[in-house]
Amino acid sequence: MSINHQKNIIEVKNISFSYGDVEVLKNITLDIHKGDYISLIGPNGGGKTTLLKIMLGLITPQIGEVKLFGKNINNFKDWSKFGYVPQKAINFDPLFPVTVREVVAMGRYGKKGLLKWLNKKDQEIIDGALAQVEMTDHANRLIGNLSSGQQQRVFIARALAGEPEVIFLDEPTVGVDVKNQEEFYALLTHLNTKLNITLIIISHDVDVISHQVTELACLNQTLVYHGEPKKFMKGHYLDELYGESARFVAHNH
Ligand code: ADP
Repeated sequence: MSINHQKNIIEVKNISFSYGDVEVLKNITLDIHKGDYISLIGPNGGGKTTLLKIMLGLITPQIGEVKLFGKNINNFKDWSKFGYVPQKAINFDPLFPVTVREVVAMGRYGKKGLLKWLNKKDQEIIDGALAQVEMTDHANRLIGNLSSGQQQRVFIARALAGEPEVIFLDEPTVGVDVKNQEEFYALLTHLNTKLNITLIIISHDVDVISHQVTELACLNQTLVYHGEPKKFMKGHYLDELYGESARFVAHNH
């Protein structure tokens, strides 16, 4: 893997964020570098989604600064560098009238603008994205006819169609069975190591994710931990943050 630790893609500096009077994030400083594969973990309500929204410019912290690719987020325009894979929360009707290829093509419009026709090069990029996630043979099927794991691969392909440098994933394996989860994580590792895409993944499953990523950032209002997964799992953090049951799960995996 070619992590370029010189190049900060996301710099979060001393940010604090409140919803009304309720402070949700307190003095968070976190740098994400090109080539990182990092998971945001922490107990429910710890502020993971809030931080993700801040990094995507959807909400603005009251205190602190965010820079993307070296630019203050308020002046940042190159949003096509970022891809997003949502939670697998949508239960498509099997007859939902959109094919796999059409879903992936939507990812291309983010790059080009909605009113542009997709040309031959775009079609090639869409084909390439389908191939990366091994869904070429399913391109003309309806999205609702696929398994949860396959649907998640299609959402990855949709993100890839925008040729992003960074992909955010929000608990992408919720509702995906264990075997498909393994394949899904193998795909993410491929994107990170072979395509050099920076990955930022929110996960509630500390034990599983800690075996996948190169870095953990644990949020519980403050940034409780940032570093290698190994040290986190060996440390006292699990009990403190998740209670006794978490340690039981970690030891019995
Ligand atoms: P996590 O993703 O770690 O579960 P969130 O960032 O979703 O945490 O939430 C952090 C805290 O902020 C929670 O207490 C949640 O109830 C609160 N919160 C989240 N979104 C809103 C909102 N739109 N308005 C008010 N409070 C919110």
